[in-house]
Amino acid sequence: MNNVELWQSVLAQMQFHISRANFATWFQNTEIISKDNEKIIISVPNAFSKEWLSNKYNKLILKTLHDIDDTIRELEFVIKPQPIKNAVLKTPTGREEQEEIQLKFEEFKINKDTNLNPRYTFASFVVGSFNELAHAAAMAVADNPGYTYNPLFIYGGTGLGKTHLIQAIGNKINDEAKKKKIKYISSEKFVSSIVSAIRTNTMEAFKASLAPIDILILDDIQFIAGKNKSQEEFFHIFNSLYEKNKQIILSSDRPPNAIAELEDRLRSRFEGGMIADVSLPDYETRLVILKTKLQEKNADLPEEVLDYIAANVKKNIRELEGALNKILIHGKINPNLNVETTKKLLRGFVFSPFDVANYKKIIETVAKFYNLEEKNLFDPTRRKEIVKPRQIAMFLLRKELKYSFPAIARKFGGKDHTTAIYAYKKILQENEENNKLTEELNLIKQRIYSG
Ligand code: ADP
Ligand code: MG
Repeated sequence: MNNVELWQSVLAQMQFHISRANFATWFQNTEIISKDNEKIIISVPNAFSKEWLSNKYNKLILKTLHDIDDTIRELEFVIKPQPIKNAVLKTPTGREEQEEIQLKFEEFKINKDTNLNPRYTFASFVVGSFNELAHAAAMAVADNPGYTYNPLFIYGGTGLGKTHLIQAIGNKINDEAKKKKIKYISSEKFVSSIVSAIRTNTMEAFKASLAPIDILILDDIQFIAGKNKSQEEFFHIFNSLYEKNKQIILSSDRPPNAIAELEDRLRSRFEGGMIADVSLPDYETRLVILKTKLQEKNADLPEEVLDYIAANVKKNIRELEGALNKILIHGKINPNLNVETTKKLLRGFVFSPFDVANYKKIIETVAKFYNLEEKNLFDPTRRKEIVKPRQIAMFLLRKELKYSFPAIARKFGGKDHTTAIYAYKKILQENEENNKLTEELNLIKQRIYSG
């Protein structure tokens, strides 16, 4: 077996272990450049691939090689830069070719039966430590719907892949031979269907239409909070599906215990299965995501441009995609793209904590999170529902904006500044002891900083 064949068979095996997206990103343009005695040297296109492969996949690659040839005991990765490509899109010239690519860019058609967008697959979903658990749970559910985790509850901030992931489950099940009836519904749509069924006295028909569903996917379920009639009907729908081992998949912008005005019996149903969060990807993962998206679009960008985007667009994955698209469109017209032009183009995407977190933003976010009006935070009341959010607002003003305690007290209607100190210390301490509060604070902060 020569080096090329050897590497081909390693690559063939690696595909079983990692997603197509990750595979394409990290193993493209790699090859064995030498093999002497026990040591194999593999060339990779850049420092990121090198770091990623040697940290994450070293063991797996070595084991795979060793299984084929047991004299191999050591690996080394060396960087062999690829010829520099300046052009953004890979040279489609003819008009027809152009149009074909245009088509690929367009959204896929939504499946009319299931409401699923076929674009959202596991293959195009990048996994990192920020979403590992949610991804694993989603895969388990897709493999054995109704019997592993029921319901599956995925939560996290906006643009972090919840919709993608829960639709990927539906798409995977839908691709399998044994046909199951799958339905994806946004909670907004779901609630409005319930409301109109109540109004037109057709609730039984509505429920009958849901009965044959094997997999029910409800996106953004936090939307049902405070809508009592809908919650009541949903509770019965939930139970009748659940009792028949039908899979229920939910997403939300926060965990069940942080959804205010959610009936307790629904909350405990939501907590009865598996709860997993998606958080923010780190720099490395953002780079992987960018590369995956480039590949999907059959496009290319200079490494330092990608690096700039990954290092600076941190808000969420939707923004990251938006930034990439902006650069690609610009690049189509002006092929000489560099970091300077990228910087200018991405001004709106790049955020610095200093321009985003401000007094108004903190008050607004805390009030909204606890379903209060902003002015409620300033009510002179000792009601628990108000006191805690008020203390959190004070805490964040101090912690995030370094407000002085007297300044905080002034903002809150001239209270004694010891009240502000008390609030700060109380939240600080509770944050250490109470996981639920920590989680809430994290979600609130995520929102404050995501504009
Ligand atoms: P959410 O529902 O949490 O607001 P979405 O699922 O709509 O977020 O994701 C926003 C965009 O980011 C989508 O285009 C989606 O394909 C993309 N995206 C999110 N997470 C990932 C991921 N892990 N890998 C690849 N693309 C992702
Ligand atoms: Mg969504």
